[in-house]
Amino acid sequence: MIEKLTLRVNPETAADTTGLLRREVARQLGMPLSRIVHIDILRRSIDARRRPVAVNLSLAAHIDAVDETFRRYEPIAYPDVASAPAVIVVGAGPAGLFAALELIELGLRPIVLERGKDVDSRRRDLATLCRTGAVDPDSNYCFGEGGAGAYSDGKLYTRSTKRGPVDKVLQIFHTHGATDSVLIDAHPHIGTDRLPVIIKAIRETILAHGGEVRFGCRVTALDFAADGSVAGVVTASGERLQGPVILATGHSARDVYRMLHQSGVELQPKGIAVGVRLEHPQTLIDRIQYHSPHGRGRFLPPAEYSMLTRVDGRAVYSFCMCPGGVIVPAASAPGELVVNGMSPSNRGTRWSNSGMVVEVLPEDLPQYDSYGPLKMMHFQADIERAFFEAAEQTQVAPAQRMTDFVEGRPSADLAPSSYAPGIAPARVDKLLPPMISDRLRRAFAEFGRKARGFLTPDATVVGDETRTSSPVRIPRDRVSMQHIAVPGLYPVGEGAGYAGGIVSAALDGINAARAVASAMPSR
Ligand SMILES: Cc1cc2nc3c(=O)[nH]c(=O)nc-3n(C[C@H](O)[C@H](O)[C@H](O)COP(=O)(O)OP(=O)(O)OC[C@H]3O[C@@H](n4cnc5c(N)ncnc54)[C@H](O)[C@@H]3O)c2cc1C
Repeated sequence: MIEKLTLRVNPETAADTTGLLRREVARQLGMPLSRIVHIDILRRSIDARRRPVAVNLSLAAHIDAVDETFRRYEPIAYPDVASAPAVIVVGAGPAGLFAALELIELGLRPIVLERGKDVDSRRRDLATLCRTGAVDPDSNYCFGEGGAGAYSDGKLYTRSTKRGPVDKVLQIFHTHGATDSVLIDAHPHIGTDRLPVIIKAIRETILAHGGEVRFGCRVTALDFAADGSVAGVVTASGERLQGPVILATGHSARDVYRMLHQSGVELQPKGIAVGVRLEHPQTLIDRIQYHSPHGRGRFLPPAEYSMLTRVDGRAVYSFCMCPGGVIVPAASAPGELVVNGMSPSNRGTRWSNSGMVVEVLPEDLPQYDSYGPLKMMHFQADIERAFFEAAEQTQVAPAQRMTDFVEGRPSADLAPSSYAPGIAPARVDKLLPPMISDRLRRAFAEFGRKARGFLTPDATVVGDETRTSSPVRIPRDRVSMQHIAVPGLYPVGEGAGYAGGIVSAALDGINAARAVASAMPSR
């Protein structure tokens, strides 16, 4: 027999499932301890809004015997699609990989074309990038198997719950090797050490059921039919592949945006957010967020935070916060410097970092109008180039103490940082356009008033963070998901401007696969 219940307990009780928690469950159910033979946690969230910090649990208690029929979900039985009609999926990020899995489930054969390398070979290029500063334009933190999500924090929460089957995305991650916590935690994350294994397992599922995955296969052009629809793609080696095209190339494939623009495919400029990575000692964030001079103690995870304000009509907010993480060089081509953040599954480093970014809308940049729909992309690229030049054409990132940034003065020295290529003191406040640094400065002062200790010389502002979302939208029909003027082209995921983050990109991929399947009724 299973009894489901919700509880609010202290962190120690939540962590001790076979001891303290079992006793609490028995007490709540008014049963002898011996009758509670097993507990499955179904949902877990930390309430750190005030002291004492509490953990909210929803759980299933197995009474008298373990109920072997209890399942969190039924795994998907994928059919063999080796001889089914082909669909071209460009990009093996979350959008492309989840589109491929869904296509197989729907009886179609995905051919996944990925410009980068498999996730293991890619790791070696990332090590070289961190050691030497050399950026491989096809293999970096943005490009390669798993996309921008592969070497990330692997945070799996999304606000886009209305966009599709979030539970299905989490279950697929779980079936492919993620721990139970992705199904349980309110803010699940996988960690950069575990993501590659999961991505490989997803690839193996695609291959085992008749799909194809090709690495080192950059798509350079669309193949148009006489009626203007897309009939397939052309790769860098000159090969032509036929089929509907799910274009899931992410927000950093500037060559893809240029190619589409030159081919006459309508694009639109899209608002982005630009700023810096802010790095604090994790112990300081723990003390602030858990309201305790002793920090997080033995039973709580490294603390997260989320900040948001408006300054002069534009949002300023924290983005992609990585507790216990590291800052990484996220350039996708030589001549750029741009940073991002990730963390391992144990979130065990001494640092916490988050993007701190300011919303920038197309109307804020009339001076870029001559670039048409690519104006925001050019703005992004100009900032990344300016930081690269300031870094004397290396990946050593310009940095400033947070308090010096707010006061508008140089930093004589810097706190230690997790950023492997190194940081060097610079006027980050001056390298950023004033519309960004002025707003950030005021927002930091406000965040410091709201969370005492947050504005501190021990925190470092590292520049620049520009790849928060796509600078371009590839407009598509809401229902058919095909480009508004180019049938056969399905722009999907973050690069199309319809997703932001791993889960929402995966959902968009799933939805695109369904749209493709419903447009192929004759199979
Ligand atoms: C360091 C870092 C940390 C992040 N942390 C998180 C996090 O914790 N949680 C979260 O939700 N999000 C995180 N993100 C963002 C997240 O990774 C993206 O939102 C997500 O990966 C977008 O998925 P996508 O499939 O749309 O595009 P991408 O993941 O960008 O994938 C696009 C793929 O297309 C390939 N491609 C590009 N051009 C071509 C071409 N011409 N031919 C063939 N292939 C091509 C690329 O190589 C790439 O593999 C992070 C991003 C970075 C860089």
